[in-house]
Amino acid sequence: MNSLPNPVSEDKSQDPRTITVLGATGSIGMNVIDLLERNEAQFDVVALTANRNVEQLAELAIRHKAQLAVVADESMYQELKATLEGTSVEAAAGEDALVEAASRPAEITMAAVVGAAGIRPSLEAIKQGNCLALANKECLVAAGELFTAEIKKHGATLLPVDSEHSAVYQSLDEKAMDKIERVILTASGGPFRCKSLEEIRSATRAEALKHPNWEMGQKITIDSATMMNKGLEVIEAFHLFPVSPEEIEVVVHPESIIHGMVEYQDGAVIAQMGSPDMRTPIAYSLAWPRRMHAPSERLDFAKLGKLTFEAPDETRFPALKVAREALISGGNAPTILNGANEVAVEAFLQDRINLLAIAAICAESIARVQSECGGGTPSTLDDVLYIDGAARRVARKLVTEDSFQC
Ligand code: NAD
Ligand code: MG
Repeated sequence: MNSLPNPVSEDKSQDPRTITVLGATGSIGMNVIDLLERNEAQFDVVALTANRNVEQLAELAIRHKAQLAVVADESMYQELKATLEGTSVEAAAGEDALVEAASRPAEITMAAVVGAAGIRPSLEAIKQGNCLALANKECLVAAGELFTAEIKKHGATLLPVDSEHSAVYQSLDEKAMDKIERVILTASGGPFRCKSLEEIRSATRAEALKHPNWEMGQKITIDSATMMNKGLEVIEAFHLFPVSPEEIEVVVHPESIIHGMVEYQDGAVIAQMGSPDMRTPIAYSLAWPRRMHAPSERLDFAKLGKLTFEAPDETRFPALKVAREALISGGNAPTILNGANEVAVEAFLQDRINLLAIAAICAESIARVQSECGGGTPSTLDDVLYIDGAARRVARKLVTEDSFQC
């Protein structure tokens, strides 16, 4: 499947471009804000959203003269309203308000919410035919078929923000889309790349949150420590690019300089490189089909000296295998995987389960939910939310089982 726009299309956009940032207060969100500040004349902010951080959201909305600021947690509405009193920024709260924010006309909607919570607003932006810059990979993992169908139906544009997928996208040869043999996603290997299975099992929350190369939100940092992140990215790549699951390869590349590659039938491999700074792929999606300045550190190849690669180890990182199997078996398995993983990561962050339990809980959740609900592909939003809910219920039960404890 391939839901991406033609990379070389006519550039009809004019500055300033209107933009909404869903999840503006997060790690991706703040990198987007940094780029908007550095390129102020090029963007007009429509709406900014956050989960609970009213103070930061209000400050950003005022500074960027947003029309609207939305906090997902309804109990924070009065606080947001009071903070925005006397300004021109409208305040709103709750899940429906988030969807309403995404429905306002904006040339670019940056989907930077973490987890399945971003599905409804991202889908709404697609329904408006907006350009959706997607960092929120869980949308494609949990609802890939639905997103692909809605993008086609509404003529929306989807641009990947995830560094690996942005790299692959930038490495596509428009004239040879049917000549791709492999898409290669690189992985840093995370903080436990050189650790034993036992060390990984007994890893603490603090150790797992120390990523060697990237500064990110907590959920994706834990996903990187288990390598579930790369598993989710394999599923994401499947929905973005015209390749089968077997044609998507993962290679561990600890330096995180090459982000993604495409191999063609003639053996040529095209790669995209850059320092590990999300502002490069974000800038690409914000300026597309042009380019804009981003302050990411420039590569000094002589100083780098060498780049290294190794095969991923699915024994120490079973999450990668569980995710790949979910993709191959298809149907609702990826939706269940995503919901169960969100619950298990949360439980790990609360010191309730060990790190290796995350993959085991995901695999067991897939088996249990499918024996209860069957394995059909969720093709509507209601189907996706139903399966996501079932996965969360099963996973919440599993995190209390003795075998998964710290
Ligand atoms: P984060 O936790 O730093 O930020 C998440 C944002 O979403 C915040 O603004 C938060 O307020 C908002 N949010 C959280 N829960 C919400 C809810 N229930 N309803 C509405 N809003 C909610 O996360 P992040 O690291 O910025 O990651 C965001 C997404 O981008 C994730 O899907 C992640 O996998 C992906 N991504 C992140 C990076 C990175 O470098 N951080 C890189 C590639 C992809
Ligand atoms: Mg990535």
